[in-house]
Amino acid sequence: MGNRDIRKKPPLFADDIAVVKRHYDAQSDAYLVMGTHQRPDLKKPFNVVAWHSRHNKKLIDIKTFDSQTGARAHFSAALTAPEAPEHPLLDRDWQKDRLYKWENSFLNDSSARINKKEALALIRRVCKDYNISEPELEWCAAKKGGAAYVIDEHKIYFSDRDAVSLLHELAHAIDAVRHDKEPDSGAEHAPAFVWLAIELYNRYAGIRMDYMIVSANNAGLLGDLQENQMLFSTAAMDRAP
Ligand SMILES: [Zn+2]
Repeated sequence: MGNRDIRKKPPLFADDIAVVKRHYDAQSDAYLVMGTHQRPDLKKPFNVVAWHSRHNKKLIDIKTFDSQTGARAHFSAALTAPEAPEHPLLDRDWQKDRLYKWENSFLNDSSARINKKEALALIRRVCKDYNISEPELEWCAAKKGGAAYVIDEHKIYFSDRDAVSLLHELAHAIDAVRHDKEPDSGAEHAPAFVWLAIELYNRYAGIRMDYMIVSANNAGLLGDLQENQMLFSTAAMDRAP
């Protein structure tokens, strides 16, 4: 079972291989694929296991195997690994600006203004429901605008004055705790994060789930819904706040 290094050869794309198995990971917005590839200069096709992002089909972290058994074993092992490998093509924050734009266009009108007391009450409620410790709230001057959650301080800096902006940062806090994120890891806005944020906007800001799912999906923010059916059916259940 050779592990031939084919990285020096021309790049391989998902369409170059006959895909046998495929898994979509909403956390990294990437696919893990297993398949066979027939190179023109070789007699027999070889088996490939690799990753590619949703927005670029170039295969990365390519492992090749003579036998399909070896490829299957590697595919299964990679599935149990927590996440896709670090790679520039698997930039998990590539849709950040697109998410901000969607929130500004579709949610601003439904996002209630909140004062500090209401913000603290909202933080308490969300953190109790999601079983995380409450992040500290720094109530910054409103004229600055913006909001940020800082992982290693477990603290939200808040200049915005609306519920959706606070819930967005709380989604970052939940995401960081759930996935045990490194203090210096940047904010990530992958589809898994967008689903979590949407869940919060529905439960605590009362924004309709179907409205958000349709518009966010049209903006391409929700990942691969075909592969995400479980996630979809869970999040699609409107829960009373
Ligand atoms: Zn964010």
